[in-house]
Amino acid sequence: MSLSQLARAIPPSPTLSLNEEARVLKEKGEAVIHLGAGEPKNKAPIAAILSSVAKLTTGDIKYTPTDGTPSLKRAILRYTEEVYNRIVAPENVIVSAGAKQSLYNLLYTLLNPQDEVIVLAPYWVSYPEMIRMVYGVPVIVRPEDGSFVPRMKEIEQAVSSYTRAIIVNSPNNPSGVMYPAELIEALVQFCEKKGIYLIMDDIYHRLIFDGKTPISAYKYTTKDPENTHVISINGISKLYGMTGFRIGWVVAPKQLVEIMTNVQAQTVSCTSLVLQSAAEGALTGLQSAVETLRMTLENNRNVMMQELRSFNGVKTVKPDGTYYCLPDFRAYNADSVALSKFLLKRALVVTVPGKEFGMEGHLRLSYATTIKDITEGVARIKWALDPDSPKEIYIGERKLLRDWA
Ligand code: PMP
Repeated sequence: MSLSQLARAIPPSPTLSLNEEARVLKEKGEAVIHLGAGEPKNKAPIAAILSSVAKLTTGDIKYTPTDGTPSLKRAILRYTEEVYNRIVAPENVIVSAGAKQSLYNLLYTLLNPQDEVIVLAPYWVSYPEMIRMVYGVPVIVRPEDGSFVPRMKEIEQAVSSYTRAIIVNSPNNPSGVMYPAELIEALVQFCEKKGIYLIMDDIYHRLIFDGKTPISAYKYTTKDPENTHVISINGISKLYGMTGFRIGWVVAPKQLVEIMTNVQAQTVSCTSLVLQSAAEGALTGLQSAVETLRMTLENNRNVMMQELRSFNGVKTVKPDGTYYCLPDFRAYNADSVALSKFLLKRALVVTVPGKEFGMEGHLRLSYATTIKDITEGVARIKWALDPDSPKEIYIGERKLLRDWA
């Protein structure tokens, strides 16, 4: 079949394929433990449900303005002011179908073919692929072994005359690590001096632990909203656990938003009115749901760390936020894809190979699940990897065999 070379070169999303594999196993009745999930188990906040139901019951569900309904945009302006202490205009905001589409539209709008974007490893799986999808070139900067924080000197060295943007995701998927304020400050100053965009993927921005406060890149810019090179991406997926509602947004200079709006107009017209109403409800309703989710995640993170600490040879950097941690399993197997497959087959535990995030030898484990699944999941991984553990265990009636062959 004759297909676009570019489209054919795009691999399936590893996290979504793993979800599918786990779903099929579960459907067959297997006692799968999912430590691969990128979504929490909470219910959507009631304000979001009521707001979308109210809209739906009018029966008057039509196209909205391409860049989002005025009332959702007002809620986003308030959010930007409260969370970032940054006042922007409605023309600085565009709403899309999730932060994923926000980022794709942004990259499509920013890049010419062969333009480079700096991506900091470990990185979210979609960044390099999206950059390639718009004929750009991802340039990966790696941290020192044992750390998940990149060094400014190496970022500067990776920048060339083709560099158009640097993407920062802090706290970070997959490591959970939050970059220090000094690094964010240095990045803002460097980007604004060089005329490079600093794309802040702030999707986990407020889901942070240990009394830490979110770090805003805007704090370090001296430029107004039309001249700054700081662009922020946000959404309701992670903050409110509303992944299925598919609403995200970008805050950027008007000129950029105008072009992004043209791109969106020709591709999806707009996102659904019902879902925009849900996002508006979430943003304007009681914010206790965010704190409840944050506290649950912090507690889960603590349990996960405790379980991993008793794991010989596995090194883990304690996450500052997000849903994830990224332990180093090189003591057991340096091939994370093989290890992840082995664990799914032998222990029925879903993990995501670090290779997909540019961090071979590691596995991403999600603690956005129940305490029971975290403890049992890590116990099963230990059982499967420890050569001294029993050759077989029972999960209910089901016998699992530890087999290294
Ligand atoms: N950025 C990062 C770092 C993410 O982890 C995700 C979701 N996994 C997204 C963006 C996309 O989020 P959304 O559901 O809003 O598209």
